[in-house]
Amino acid sequence: MNALVLSSPAKLNLYLDVLGRRPDGYHELITLFERISLADTLFIRRTRRRAIQVTCTDPTVPCDRRNLVYQAAAFLRRTYGVKEGMRIDIKKNIPVGAGLGGGSSNAATALLAMNRLFGLKISRAGLIEHANELGSDVAFFVLGRKWALGRGRGGDLTEIKVSGRLKFWHLLVVPKVSILTKEVYGALKRQGKGGRRGRGTGATFGLTKKGGGVNILLPYLKEKDISSLDRALYNRLTEVVLNSNTFVSEVYNSLHACNYGRVHMSGSGPTLFVLMRDYAEAQRVFYAVRRRFRDRCRVFLASTW
Ligand code: ATP
Repeated sequence: MNALVLSSPAKLNLYLDVLGRRPDGYHELITLFERISLADTLFIRRTRRRAIQVTCTDPTVPCDRRNLVYQAAAFLRRTYGVKEGMRIDIKKNIPVGAGLGGGSSNAATALLAMNRLFGLKISRAGLIEHANELGSDVAFFVLGRKWALGRGRGGDLTEIKVSGRLKFWHLLVVPKVSILTKEVYGALKRQGKGGRRGRGTGATFGLTKKGGGVNILLPYLKEKDISSLDRALYNRLTEVVLNSNTFVSEVYNSLHACNYGRVHMSGSGPTLFVLMRDYAEAQRVFYAVRRRFRDRCRVFLASTW
């Protein structure tokens, strides 16, 4: 096998709480990931030249060592002594820096592709370990499941199995603004100053949990109780982003006022989403929202994948 074409899906965080600061400087999280159908496409082929070559249809994404795909490929080459080179072309559909995990997903897809292309025979557990060295969300995409609970930096995973068929529709509204994850965590820390202390970590954050906790949410998912699930979705960073970014806050308020459903945020934003069960309704809402928000946001309709 010399070449592969693979989809590289996005994720949503249905639940995200920040529990404190870890001794290694990263944040201790608990999050419920969902893999969704909005996806990039990666074209990967072996080349005779030793180099790793990356291209991307989105000119804002760096294609050198800063690209997570490049880092994943270089890491596996180094670790497993791969002599050949490779070329990876990324067709970007997932908005960049939107809290949808596009870069992490691309890195995971590159790991999975190289494992197959070069016959490296790395187990899923081995790949997950490598994924965690590359970034916080990469392991979820290597796991390749619809839902998983992430602890630690997000890479300590437990698959959440739901019996029978369950598929959500998500209206995704991505405000055209760049938000740096680092800045959001910085603002969280500032807002939390004077708040109660992070559990067992010595970090100071305002840690009032409003979503009722992930343990309340998981049974709703397993029982397919969508309206209770929707009410239990929570993201600790939503308030932080809305308080510090007027543009996102305006989009959030107008989307909320449209009454299409509860408005949630994924990761460190700015992607906002609405959970829906019925496809016809989701499509109707999608067209209405796209018409109304087109100049300020990118709007997508995606499902559980
Ligand atoms: P995070 O929460 O980790 O910031 P995100 O989902 O919000 O992730 P990404 O689309 O992964 O955002 O992009 C985050 C940063 O990673 C951007 O600054 C981007 O330039 C860089 N990056 C590196 N490689 C990639 C890639 N293959 N695809 C997208 N972004 C990449």
